[in-house]
Amino acid sequence: MNRRALDELKQQIPLLQYLQGHDWQQARPIGFGRLLGLCPLHADHNPSFLVYPQKNLFYCYGCRRGGDVIRFAELFHQVGFRHAVALLREWSGVAPLLHQAVDYYRVQLNRHGEAVDYLHQRGIRSPELIDHMRIGYAPGGCLRGWLTQLGYPLSALRQAGLVTAVGYDAYTRRIVFPPEGNFFGRRLSPSAPPHRFLPGSKGGLYGWEQARLYPEVILVEGLFDYAALWEAGFHNVTCSLGTNLNARQFRQLCDGTRTVYLTFDADANGSGQQAALHLASRLRKHGLSARIVSLPDGFDPNTYFSESGNAKEFQCLLEAARS
Ligand SMILES: [Zn+2]
Repeated sequence: MNRRALDELKQQIPLLQYLQGHDWQQARPIGFGRLLGLCPLHADHNPSFLVYPQKNLFYCYGCRRGGDVIRFAELFHQVGFRHAVALLREWSGVAPLLHQAVDYYRVQLNRHGEAVDYLHQRGIRSPELIDHMRIGYAPGGCLRGWLTQLGYPLSALRQAGLVTAVGYDAYTRRIVFPPEGNFFGRRLSPSAPPHRFLPGSKGGLYGWEQARLYPEVILVEGLFDYAALWEAGFHNVTCSLGTNLNARQFRQLCDGTRTVYLTFDADANGSGQQAALHLASRLRKHGLSARIVSLPDGFDPNTYFSESGNAKEFQCLLEAARS
């Protein structure tokens, strides 16, 4: 790949935009157009990550690493140069589209009573939570029209997975949550498959930028579980989108000294508990403290809170968690 193509790629993706797309929150401007915030590359508790938006450069005083957007992608995703360039290319094509789709679906949520009713039924009520998780609703049959009207070619919508091969909206009658670089859709109608993701990686841990600041974190497997705990006041919650953590999610959990409370579903077949035991032993090998929370049989954190439990009772479950 020649130098000019690399320069073009870097121009297409301003470093600040890429950081914000990965949930980086600047703490404050510190003069000369520079911004300071927590470092996404190490377990940072005092802002030490400096960004020069005009020069598209960063430097961290904590882990003493710095460079351009490609260097950042290498370090952040822990991949080599070529892989980082490929990830950036992919991101520059898909990110703006996903951003538009998220905004569109968020507007649709309040226009569809059945979607709001469904959220209520699952215990999601507060506008703060809906905002925090950027929850939306995909009615179906309208996203393609909206995005093509905005000038996005149909081929790009297909490539991102938002539109099917035959040209229909991929998400129809689904509550949608946008984890980093993907879309999780939960069906409303019983006839469709319950869960849907875009092709590609499920990304890192959901809500990690916030959860990592706590010495004790609660790990759950689903976004509705995350919602239930967040709503109950447990803001040290994070979600792995399934019980199998990918390599990046595992590294994230291990990026500092902490206790992890594994709160997977108490399935009838014991698969959630099995997965928790396995993960707990891996975490302990990496020097973390891991504890397994036992929910009543047949419950997941979402049903626990929507059907019976409250924050005080859940706190007791945390204290009783097996180590
Ligand atoms: Zn750092």
